[in-house]
Amino acid sequence: MIEELRPNLFRIEIPLPGSPLKYLNSYVVRSNDKNLIIDTGLNQKECLIAMHAGLQEIGVSLDRTDIFITHLHADHFSLVSELATPDTTVWFNRPDAEIVESWEGLEWMIAYSGRHGFPEDRLKAALDTHPGAKFGSGWIPELKILEDGATIRYGEYDFTCIETPGHSMGHTCLYEPNKKILISGDHILIDITPNIQCWSDERNPLKEYLESLEKVYDLDVDLVLPGHRRIFYDHHRRIRELQTHHQHRLTEVMEILLHTTLSAYDTASMMTWDIKADSWDAFPVAQQWFATGEALAHLQYLEKEGLIRRHTVDGIIRFSRNNYLLASPLF
Ligand SMILES: [Zn+2]
Repeated sequence: MIEELRPNLFRIEIPLPGSPLKYLNSYVVRSNDKNLIIDTGLNQKECLIAMHAGLQEIGVSLDRTDIFITHLHADHFSLVSELATPDTTVWFNRPDAEIVESWEGLEWMIAYSGRHGFPEDRLKAALDTHPGAKFGSGWIPELKILEDGATIRYGEYDFTCIETPGHSMGHTCLYEPNKKILISGDHILIDITPNIQCWSDERNPLKEYLESLEKVYDLDVDLVLPGHRRIFYDHHRRIRELQTHHQHRLTEVMEILLHTTLSAYDTASMMTWDIKADSWDAFPVAQQWFATGEALAHLQYLEKEGLIRRHTVDGIIRFSRNNYLLASPLF
């Protein structure tokens, strides 16, 4: 499906077969000079066919087209290897580029998850068949880095890069201040909540995400073009909803830890999830893994706020509430 949202600004729907996200929104700016594609799809036949058909319909040829990618996740990045020509500039952000260019597989993530209570064998088997691994990019083109605040111009669109870490370390939105358009990637979505996961003890992705929401709140926006699902208009309202969602999640985690000490995996198993399954054990393993990453992002946030602390027993990290908080009116 292709639609023209504003003059020479198009949305091409790229199917993501089998994914609960359903499809990726790829945006295309057409111009007499160079065109721009924003986000690409998985390196999968269905995605490539939809992209080629869409570009053909709007008269955009790949040999005069640059590509901007909001973040490193496979559904946004991977199809780049099938689209980039020797004349294509591929725009990207530095933190995600460093991960992509030094990628050595998921082994360290599996080990990290194991320390947080995830059964490593089951995870290994599930990740081998995960779309991100199966439909990754064929090769990594040269990535041209855009810093926060940098501008790029295509046709009548002047975009400013707004770095919004949280969903990934370097996630970057594009903002068109004159036309009040925000291309939000997976930073702000409607109907679904962007996944905020933590796979490092040093970082605090949920805090970064909440700060990135506040950063975008201040922009003057009339139209939000997200990476998935439908476009929307009121970014202020959606940002407040997302902030409230995470406050509820933080409270939920504190309540789960009220009288007990749990690993991130066990904490995730007790949180409420919007997944069609009868019980935690019935979740697909990959979904359990995402849930554990999300639980960890909240645990790490609470730990860094001084509300909970970790204990390592038999190589497994577990979290408990700090005692003095038992009388706290907040939790
Ligand atoms: Zn995505």
